[in-house]
Amino acid sequence: MARPSKKSTSAGAPRSGGKVASQRVADLAAASRILAAQGVVDGFGHVSMRHPAAPDRYLMARSLAPALVTPKDILEYDLDSNPCDAAGRGSFLERFIHGEIYKTRADVMAVVHSHSPSVIPFGLVDVPMRAMFHNAAFLAAGVPVFDIREKFGATDLLVSDGAKGVALAEIVGQHDVALMRAHGSVACGPSLEAAVFRAVYTEVNARVQHWTIALGDGAPISALDLDEGRLADAVNLTAATRAWNLWRTMVRGQVKW
Ligand code: MN
Repeated sequence: MARPSKKSTSAGAPRSGGKVASQRVADLAAASRILAAQGVVDGFGHVSMRHPAAPDRYLMARSLAPALVTPKDILEYDLDSNPCDAAGRGSFLERFIHGEIYKTRADVMAVVHSHSPSVIPFGLVDVPMRAMFHNAAFLAAGVPVFDIREKFGATDLLVSDGAKGVALAEIVGQHDVALMRAHGSVACGPSLEAAVFRAVYTEVNARVQHWTIALGDGAPISALDLDEGRLADAVNLTAATRAWNLWRTMVRGQVKW
């Protein structure tokens, strides 16, 4: 489906990929609130969803604390992270994380970026994150660490342009989760529900791994191996719906949609 992505509607802005069902836009707003309620994001962090009908577009909230997002705050972007119709609404500085991952990963339909605190230590020391339990099976394939210093020297740590987004997407590669040194992490999924599930369980897994390391006091850790991870993740991708239904219901009263 060749789309004239260079064609503009006004002032050089990319054209829209088309209207998205209001229920799906509401689900994306709900995802922001779910991630806040689950302690994955706070005043910062964001979740995006690829446009269901236009793979070269994605949807994400305007620059706003995730717990405050409503459907009217959702903007559409091209994969260079230019807004289609910002109408004066500000964009997240780090939206390039999302656009550049969508460019390199046709299978990724949603991305979460957070600074969830239990995860951060694993980007600071040479202790890899591993899958401590079946809900975090997606981590068994390995969790790479993006060190922005390697290509960009001393920075403010933010992925605030396309070049930094490309460098991060290279490190993410075919993984579902990557850490960002001294910053946070990204979680990807084949659906909005799966990406939210993975962001939540990356944070939970980090806590469990901290406890396990402390309890084991140097003993080997019997984490999921690659095969167990693959088998358990296939189940999780269907079971994630149950968690999503719970979390979606819990935030339903926060805003009308
Ligand atoms: Mn960030």
